[in-house]
Amino acid sequence: MERYKAICLDLDGTVYKGSQAIPESIAFIRTLQQSGIEPYFITNNSSRTGLEQQQKLKLLGVETTEKQIMTSAIASAKYCAQHYVGKSVQMIGESGLREALLNEGIRLVEADGDIVIMGIDHEITYNKLATACLSIRNGAHFLATNGDLALPNELGLVPGNGAFIELVKASTGVAPMILGKPQSYMLEFIQQQSGASKQEMIMIGDNYETDILSGIRFGIDTIHLQGGVTALDEVLAKLEHPTYMFKTLAEWNVES
Ligand SMILES: [Mg+2]
Repeated sequence: MERYKAICLDLDGTVYKGSQAIPESIAFIRTLQQSGIEPYFITNNSSRTGLEQQQKLKLLGVETTEKQIMTSAIASAKYCAQHYVGKSVQMIGESGLREALLNEGIRLVEADGDIVIMGIDHEITYNKLATACLSIRNGAHFLATNGDLALPNELGLVPGNGAFIELVKASTGVAPMILGKPQSYMLEFIQQQSGASKQEMIMIGDNYETDILSGIRFGIDTIHLQGGVTALDEVLAKLEHPTYMFKTLAEWNVES
């Protein structure tokens, strides 16, 4: 397994669960770092900035740098910078998405954007949704950071970005292009950044429908971790299996 140079880990359900670190994953990351490999951290969560995500990891015992963190917000901003040069962006979202767009030098507007990007916004309003719908009806390209319909919090499952996308889609008849997992854009940007070949990349996660499918679509090896979103029997029932299926990352012996 020492052929992997870009080891990509999902965050929630893989490195931690909410505010609890997963000890075997933390130990695994430390072992990698001691052997000179800096893993990449991939999340569909577009609300946190790279720095906020780095600080959350630090609290849980993982020291890393912002450049090892890839969020659906960063991928959306990079996609816009590469494919829509000079276009204005109208966003629904939080600081993570705003900062990612500004880091790429993208011009943000409140209305009539050339592009509408939707990410999770805990302060979403009728007016923000209406303004997005008007721009899309006027021909704006419609992008979304991720399509997760429901998210876990302390109370249970609450609406995710995908639920608000459905509203805009229902009203306008336009479906967005989604940048987060299960699409493989985040992996593609990590490949660009790391220079690793696909044979040297691996995606590790607990959710078959997002983590594992993004890896399979990109054509790289995958590890499914149990104890998170997708149970082992559900994974085994799929037509395409992950490359490896582990209970925890303690099963991956880095030296072997
Ligand atoms: Mg997960």
